Amino acid sequence: MAGRDAPERACVGCGRRRGQAELVRFSRGPAGLQVHLEPGEGRGAYICPDLTCLGRAVTRKALQKVLGGDLGPLSVQRLREAIHQAVLQRITRILGVARRTRRVVTGVSTVAETLERGGLRLVFSSRDTSPGPGAALQAEAERRGIPVVTIFSPGDLHSAFGGPSHGAIGLLDGGCAEGVLRSLRYRIPLSTQEKALDGAGARGRGGGRRG
Ligand SMILES: [Zn+2]
Repeated sequence: MAGRDAPERACVGCGRRRGQAELVRFSRGPAGLQVHLEPGEGRGAYICPDLTCLGRAVTRKALQKVLGGDLGPLSVQRLREAIHQAVLQRITRILGVARRTRRVVTGVSTVAETLERGGLRLVFSSRDTSPGPGAALQAEAERRGIPVVTIFSPGDLHSAFGGPSHGAIGLLDGGCAEGVLRSLRYRIPLSTQEKALDGAGARGRGGGRRG
């Protein structure tokens, strides 16, 4: 939770005040609306990472009122996609650090082997990975309590990491894994089903299950 020094901001959707780090910040840049997942200077509109709050903000034209100027047509879908891209960019930077420090492995079989040796802190398993090896990898990671992130397509993982298509990416560094999980808090699931999937992925074994 927000400490004494963490500034609070009100969500332009629901009006609730929360720690700034829990909210997505929008600003108006030269190219229109910009999304920020980190605190920053200047005029900003803050929104809970939540479909309901996005919907209210769109209906009330809250971003236009706070930020002024022409922001182009805004829809919930467009805002959600902009946040998804910002999350992906942040994860791309984290993967860049992991690659430079050689704290990452790629490919389903290599990731699975590294997992067996107990060296992984987080697994990206692409949404479209073939059911056989991909599903076995996910099951094994969850059994070991290693977070599995399954929300990205092979295309997303490719743009985040470069190189050939990746069915899976494994992070060996705890700090990088923590950064990825923090970034994912801002992403907005489309449905409760997807939310359940995210929850299971972010918490690892047992954490996301109810009843
Ligand atoms: Zn809100």
